[in-house]
Amino acid sequence: MSEKPLKVPFVNLSLQHKPIQSQIEQVMGKIIQQGDFILGEALAEFETTFAGASGVQYGIGVACGTDAISLGLQACGIQPGDEIIIPANTFIATIIGVIQAKATPILVDCDSDTALIDLAAVATAITSKTKAIIPVHLYGQMVSPIKLLDLGNRHNLIIFEDAAQAHLAFREGYHAGSFGKAAAFSFYPSKNLGSFGDGGMLITDDADVAQKMRTLRNYGAPSKYLHTEIGTNSRLDNLQAAVLNVKLPYLETWNRDRTLAAQYYNTLLEPLKNKGIIPIANHSSSGHIYHLYVIQVTEKSPINRNTLQAKLAENGIQTGIHYPVPCHLQPAYQNLGNPGDFPNTETLCQQILSLPIYPGLSNTQIEQVVAAIELSISS
Ligand SMILES: *Cc1c(COP(=O)(O)O)cnc(C)c1O
Repeated sequence: MSEKPLKVPFVNLSLQHKPIQSQIEQVMGKIIQQGDFILGEALAEFETTFAGASGVQYGIGVACGTDAISLGLQACGIQPGDEIIIPANTFIATIIGVIQAKATPILVDCDSDTALIDLAAVATAITSKTKAIIPVHLYGQMVSPIKLLDLGNRHNLIIFEDAAQAHLAFREGYHAGSFGKAAAFSFYPSKNLGSFGDGGMLITDDADVAQKMRTLRNYGAPSKYLHTEIGTNSRLDNLQAAVLNVKLPYLETWNRDRTLAAQYYNTLLEPLKNKGIIPIANHSSSGHIYHLYVIQVTEKSPINRNTLQAKLAENGIQTGIHYPVPCHLQPAYQNLGNPGDFPNTETLCQQILSLPIYPGLSNTQIEQVVAAIELSISS
């Protein structure tokens, strides 16, 4: 069977890079000439501007988002054995970050409409060992800062934001990453702000957390050959920071493109609700930055998610699933829960489908995607 040509790819990074490629080559060329590769000028600039854009004072660039979580938790004073409450419905890196910090991840279920952490479930999971909550601003939609701050204050818990999918998202007057004690970002290439490889950052308003993070990412050394922490080697490359400096001024426009695409999807998909095709609910109004546009193929749909995904592929529409297997059902993490423990998460994993979304996705392509969904569920 011959594959039909791809009409709509899931992401298209070259669209985003073409207009700025020569600018990027210029700044990279300058760094190559200067030999300024590690903890250089471009990194210092990006740390300040990205943190500033998010409404926060300090940024500390690290090798990836996972390290931003694990080192960031340590910088916040998390100790081995501390319990940290996290959503069962997240990318595995949230859990890895907690385990790398030698803390104990406590999973809780998500809300069935928004797919975000269920704060009522968080409240019931709190014990005397609980030290922190990690809200994951999944798909680009923030968990309510007001509710989280209230919960954190009442139980004296650290709020540590996993903002890896939420660069410049906002809700209730807060940017993603600006209301917790600290927040982790990823600059994996396909994130809303992506480098040309791996990259991450911790942002915080707490000077002590920032100082400890700088030490931890650089062999535990606050100054050369003085090692006050065990630490590790996890720095955001200066070349990657230079790429990100060029890209950051476009981020708001790119996020707006995604939001407009999502609104068009919402409009076109509205008539398919009674056939069981339901977009994941957006409760953060204008501040959702749609890292992913996710629909739920419910029991009411005439075909299930996997069949829909296969039919769309036959029609040249590339889709994704974020994520197909819940963390607690992964072979390495079965100690974190049993089948049935997090029913909303488990149902979503079987029913969700991520549709193509990226800056430059045209209205015609969105119409093609929705037409292909209509055709698939009516034939
Ligand atoms: C991408 C991502 C991470 C990890 O970032 P890396 O840079 O890939 O290590 C963590 N949490 C979430 C929710 C993510 O989407």
